[in-house]
Amino acid sequence: MDYITGIQTLKKEKNAVVLAHCYQNVEIDNIADFVGDSLYLSRMAAKTDADIIIFAGVYFMAQTAKILCPDKKVLLPDLKAGCEMADMINLQQLRNFKSKHPDIPAVCYINSTAEVKSECDICCTSSNAVQIVESLNVPEVLFLPDKNLGKWVEKQLGNVKVITYDGCCPIHHNITTDEVLKAKKQNPETKLLAHPECKEEVSALADYVGSTTGIMNFVKNSSGEKFIIATEKGVLDRLKRDYPQKEFFSIKENLICPSMKLNTLEDIYNSLNNETFEIKVDSDISKKALKCINRMLEVSTAGVK
Ligand code: SF4
Repeated sequence: MDYITGIQTLKKEKNAVVLAHCYQNVEIDNIADFVGDSLYLSRMAAKTDADIIIFAGVYFMAQTAKILCPDKKVLLPDLKAGCEMADMINLQQLRNFKSKHPDIPAVCYINSTAEVKSECDICCTSSNAVQIVESLNVPEVLFLPDKNLGKWVEKQLGNVKVITYDGCCPIHHNITTDEVLKAKKQNPETKLLAHPECKEEVSALADYVGSTTGIMNFVKNSSGEKFIIATEKGVLDRLKRDYPQKEFFSIKENLICPSMKLNTLEDIYNSLNNETFEIKVDSDISKKALKCINRMLEVSTAGVK
């Protein structure tokens, strides 16, 4: 079956859009209306006039789209596509964390559940985390769930204490300095581009640290020819496709998020055809989480102007 043609036909018939995260299998770009990082996709979800949003990504991303567009049908092609980092903190764990540090604003990474967002002050993505924390204009913040991103933000700002929850993305957190040094030795005269979900000591070895979009823009604007990529393989695959004249190396084999790779063209076709699996969010939780997300979008938009 030609799933690409089938999906394109169904998208028109049903007035649907496909949002795809850049960690997805690269062939999904053939049918995606928007491909990017969490910030970009959140903005696209907020703007779309489609009736159906198919989220080729993981659960918290589809939940975020549903919170931003409560009147639209939001579908996730495979319900098993969760996020290990987002699952590291639930509402009770958040409440315990906050109670140990009362009266300090809580910033949650977008990689968190709707329930967790509903009890945080503001959300952020890896693209705008520094800007979001700075916008609060306070000496201390709580940051969750990703301790690596939180500590990286603290280092960038220099004047804000970032109290981090003990969560992380296993894919990025498991990259070691030995692996980085080995990759650099094997591929001399390369620039190392790392995601801020990597450990502090790995980020310290990088020539550039930024979100997936930041990494792709760095390559686009760089006169460099060789790059080592320290983030999920989807970014490496897209860079190889988009810049065939440049050379790209992974920090190690199989730097893959298994959840992100669950969605296939067949799943997306079935999802659109059968209108499964629909994401629903409790309306009270959704309203509170929306405040947290909208506060981020307002700050982030203001900063981009
Ligand atoms: S790469 Fe990490 S943060 Fe992203 S979805 Fe996978 S587990 Fe979650």
